[in-house]
Amino acid sequence: MTLCLSTGSVWKAAGSRGRIGTIYLVEELFSELVDGIELCFMDPEGFEEFELDEKSIKFLKRMKFNSLHAPIIEYGKNQQSEKILEKINKIGQEINLKHVTFHPNHVKDFSILKKLEFKTCIENMRAGESHKDWQYPKEINEFLEKEKDFGFCFDITHAMSNGIKPKEFIELLGEKISCVHLNATDKEGVHSHNFVFNSSKQVQEKIEPVFALDVPLIIEVAVEKEKIKLIKKEISFVRKKL
Ligand SMILES: [Zn+2]
Repeated sequence: MTLCLSTGSVWKAAGSRGRIGTIYLVEELFSELVDGIELCFMDPEGFEEFELDEKSIKFLKRMKFNSLHAPIIEYGKNQQSEKILEKINKIGQEINLKHVTFHPNHVKDFSILKKLEFKTCIENMRAGESHKDWQYPKEINEFLEKEKDFGFCFDITHAMSNGIKPKEFIELLGEKISCVHLNATDKEGVHSHNFVFNSSKQVQEKIEPVFALDVPLIIEVAVEKEKIKLIKKEISFVRKKL
């Protein structure tokens, strides 16, 4: 099994150390406990300024499975998209990248993503009008049937925020699932990116089928600085399931 951690999980704890600080923090606290890292970017400015340094390259190269969450812009035939995709390719070559994941509701032209040299995944989106067409198993499956080059990053919190049980995604998409964003929410309509280990029994039961999937599981939670060590508890909880 492959268990990874998203740098987004330590974003709040890294504070002024910024993006590169998230990589250092993950290395300091969790490097011996996980098999890979997802470099998480959301705002394009943060991504444009970001540079890997020697220390982070050395650390990431040691990992078995690295992925990258692409920043959110309108992807299409425009200069900003070109620049970002080029930079993803450059980072990817430096760290042995395996997957890149996009929020598909921001992609206007999927053909441009084919410039990427790595497996490209789309993610199911959370509840809310602006994420329409990318929330339910059926619509994700229809896209993947047409666009066979794309993989699927299954986000648990996003599914559950739409009132969908993970089982429903797994039953319809099965082999098409390329990786999982592992997180939990206990309220429909809310995408809270909580830990699984301290979620209610009911929520844990819904998530249970995910542990039978043979794909990289990426812990993608949102934790406050004081609670960052709880990520270790999540890691050992998940390891025991696998
Ligand atoms: Zn996600």
